[in-house]
Amino acid sequence: DVRVRFSPSPTGTPHVGLIRTALFNWGFARHHGGKLIFRIEDTDANRDSQESYDQLIDALTWLGIDWDEGVEVGGPHEPYRQSQRHDIYRDVLAQLVEKGLVYESFSTAEEIDARNEANGRAKQQGYDNFDRDLTDEQRAAFRAEGREPALRLKVPDEDITYDDLVRGEVTFPAGSFTDFVIVRPNGVPLYTFVNPVDDALMGVTHVLRGEDLMPSTPRQIVLYRALIEAGVTTFIPRFGHMPLVLGDGNKKLSKRDPRADLFLQRDKGFVREGLLNYLSLLGWSIAADRDVFTLDEFVAAFDISDVNPNPARFDQKKAESINGDHIRLIGLDDFAERLVPYLQASGALGADVTDEQRALVKAAAPLVKERMQLLGEAGGMLGFLFTDELEYEEEAVSKLSDDAPRVLEASAEALRGLESFDTESIQNALSAALIEGLELKPRVAYASPRVAISGRRVSPPLFESMELLGKERTIERLDALRA
Ligand code: GLU
Repeated sequence: DVRVRFSPSPTGTPHVGLIRTALFNWGFARHHGGKLIFRIEDTDANRDSQESYDQLIDALTWLGIDWDEGVEVGGPHEPYRQSQRHDIYRDVLAQLVEKGLVYESFSTAEEIDARNEANGRAKQQGYDNFDRDLTDEQRAAFRAEGREPALRLKVPDEDITYDDLVRGEVTFPAGSFTDFVIVRPNGVPLYTFVNPVDDALMGVTHVLRGEDLMPSTPRQIVLYRALIEAGVTTFIPRFGHMPLVLGDGNKKLSKRDPRADLFLQRDKGFVREGLLNYLSLLGWSIAADRDVFTLDEFVAAFDISDVNPNPARFDQKKAESINGDHIRLIGLDDFAERLVPYLQASGALGADVTDEQRALVKAAAPLVKERMQLLGEAGGMLGFLFTDELEYEEEAVSKLSDDAPRVLEASAEALRGLESFDTESIQNALSAALIEGLELKPRVAYASPRVAISGRRVSPPLFESMELLGKERTIERLDALRA
């Protein structure tokens, strides 16, 4: 059975590359009817934070990426935070030590450099496996000097080859790396050790992660072989490395790039469906001629072997356009509900939303649903409905035609006589007064009433907007702009 994991370190704020990793693991698990484990790799007390952990939970919850085992939900392999698994690591380590697969290493960085130099190896060649063959007496002597050893894993002198799920066969030639540290002299176990140990103990079958982690794969495979030899596990998982996400030029999308910030994207008004759709396209596609699909379609179609190893560029415009397509797919009531927090953020609505305001949001929702790419546009598009002090765009006012006072007066006059203030009556009345009466072209005729009621040159459909605003407020605004 498929078992995959999402195992972030809780540092910083969630970025889109990390969430793509979560999404592909989730999609793979759901596609195969397997399990997704959510484990927290908080082994760096200096960088890990509770805030970052909370943000990870918030991000996955918002997106609807659920997990079967892990933090918050528990499971058979608790605890799921590495900071709480030290006893487990100590036991596994003891088994490796007992098998002679791991040894104590006292060499300092300076000593390693000096030996490399003396032996004609490049200075930065790295560790030379010197401590592998220390005698008990030599070790005792180092200890007597007050040295604490690191623990290193023995690396065989042979090519390491594995079949990457995304890239096919990958070979790291013998000598690419030497015996490496798995536990620091201060007793802190390193990522290269605890990550595969947890994967092994949790029965992870497929490791799907970013390309940046590929260099650790051969080391982890060596460790896996040791774990099998020590009887800790019976198999090595498959590995698949997802492509880099690029920003501008051919550079990796920086964590500081605003596009990379998941919450900033949410604040701009991505809906979860749209963002997930776009993230799934970072390295994968459902079909050559198709960009927009639902999450169910993604799960049904997703296969890790279809992931493209080439770097994927984050295209904000495309992401927003896909988001707009998903806004179109959302039911009207749901859409109206989702507008509320954005109207609040823009100041159009306050913290407490009245039933009346909610009803107005709902009534206005159809006017903007077809034209919005981001929910964050709600304030600009609909704010005029909720305020008593309309603000005018400077340009909207400065570009009013000389005809404006006349047009506004005629409009107010025509609307004043209406008994029923609905879209159709409004349209008929204004058309009679402005198009026929003043003999204006529609584009010219409706420009100044539009500015009067919305404060903007571009607004939702004019007659519908007037109906929502109501007769009294509409006429007030027509008069106000004229004054
Ligand atoms: N904690 C690692 C990271 O945040 C996860 C590495 C892995 O998936 O193997 O990058």
